[in-house]
Amino acid sequence: MTHGDDRGLFLPPKVAPVQAVIVPILFGKNDDMVLDKCREALSTLEGLRVKLDDDPNQTAGWKFNQYEMLGVPVRIEIGPKDVQKEQAVLVPRDRSGKRFVKFESLKDEVGNLLDEVQAGMLKAARARVGDMTQQATTIQEFKQKLAAKPGYILVHWCGSQKCEDTLIDETKTTPRAMPRDEQHKTGKCIVCDKETDTVIYYARTY
Ligand SMILES: [Zn+2]
Repeated sequence: MTHGDDRGLFLPPKVAPVQAVIVPILFGKNDDMVLDKCREALSTLEGLRVKLDDDPNQTAGWKFNQYEMLGVPVRIEIGPKDVQKEQAVLVPRDRSGKRFVKFESLKDEVGNLLDEVQAGMLKAARARVGDMTQQATTIQEFKQKLAAKPGYILVHWCGSQKCEDTLIDETKTTPRAMPRDEQHKTGKCIVCDKETDTVIYYARTY
């Protein structure tokens, strides 16, 4: 959910059921040639999760919108001119722009673009979480910071159920995740002051 935008879903390539969709650009002339090339592309891309949408009842423009809304990370367009030039057009869902790639290197290019999209999404999501996260060392500070800016509060926690219950009760938040990268930094439990290296995110459910 964190990756969506005003055009709908945006699924990370690693989890997307369809990683790339091939959309033929048909003009009513040379259509068979284009469709043949699209089928060839589909078999070239075997091993990736690729769909060919050759439904003749929908326009290419309608399909573009549809697959953007569904969050498919990469669109592959092939039209008559592309067939002539032995190329395909790749359009990543992240708005970073079209790429014209040689048909012979299609599989490498699509694979690289999926990796690039994946890395970009991870970076953006980390920045978003970082921006939403504050730290607190006392319950008072926790409450003040959460009231000032909703989001995650990162705290040290001794691991006891009692301290967890106290914090939940006092702040009306619940534990969310124990970030792997943040562990093993010594601090004091936000509730009982005991030394601990366990760090945990809290947030409120709205
Ligand atoms: Zn404690």
